[in-house]
Amino acid sequence: MEATTVFSRFLPETTSLQLNAWHLDDTATRLTLHVTSTQQGVPCPVCAVFTPRVHSRYTRTLADLPWGVARVRWQLRVRRCVCANVQCPRRIVTERLPNVVAPWARRTRRLAAWLLAIGLALGGAAGVRLSRCLGGTLSRQTLLRMIRRLPLADDRPPQVFGVDDFALRTRQTSGTVLIDLERRQPVALLRDREAETLAQWLRAHPGVEVIRRDRARASADGAHQGAPEATQVADRFHLLQNLVDALESVFHTHRTALDAVNDRLRRQGVPLTDGTMAVAVPPPPPTGQEKTAQRRARRVECHQQV
Ligand SMILES: [Zn+2]
Repeated sequence: MEATTVFSRFLPETTSLQLNAWHLDDTATRLTLHVTSTQQGVPCPVCAVFTPRVHSRYTRTLADLPWGVARVRWQLRVRRCVCANVQCPRRIVTERLPNVVAPWARRTRRLAAWLLAIGLALGGAAGVRLSRCLGGTLSRQTLLRMIRRLPLADDRPPQVFGVDDFALRTRQTSGTVLIDLERRQPVALLRDREAETLAQWLRAHPGVEVIRRDRARASADGAHQGAPEATQVADRFHLLQNLVDALESVFHTHRTALDAVNDRLRRQGVPLTDGTMAVAVPPPPPTGQEKTAQRRARRVECHQQV
């Protein structure tokens, strides 16, 4: 199979693009692809009338995904057309290939998507370091600009969201994290745990219907001031934490009484199938030395856990 036919298969679109020639520059390790658009005409971006009349042609130089160690460059021939609608204020329409390259861009869409994926995973400096290892030549500023230009995935205000704290510095500075529970992603980090800060955010983002919050007083007050109509719900984690705290306190306070009940139950005996009763014999009460040893064992266990 001829190399041009093989290379053609790797173009992002085979219906609107045609590969005419290619050139591999061994010293620069660069593959140049001479590509022409084969679209029949161009729709005018102002009046949408299809315009087949060619005014002139020009070449766009685009970077594309590298192949092996070679950087890949396109020389893409596109057209300028004359708008067929005489009423239209736009006279000259430049040809666009929206699935291949953005207007004015100097990289193909697939290369831009590749770089963006690196930038989103690693950020500016590390993203540039990795992309250079893979043959990219862009700067940190360019990569960050590409990330900033991305449209927000979905910017409708959250309706069901959770409020919790997070540590900026453990046990010293805490902030508030707001999580969209429907989309399962954080939506805002607030600098402190004050009720007013949370209330301000809620007032600026109306439409919240349910707030699932922690047990902090500030969360309750902030939610009440900022979104009085919203239903406040205690989250499962904090409910269970409440229960654990309450039960621990109860068991600790009534420890002697609970021990006595346990002891009585143990002595009651269990009826056996032959009609006799089996009674557990309690172990002899521990001596002072044994009690000390038990306490020490508990402390060692606790220490090891820590
Ligand atoms: Zn037009």
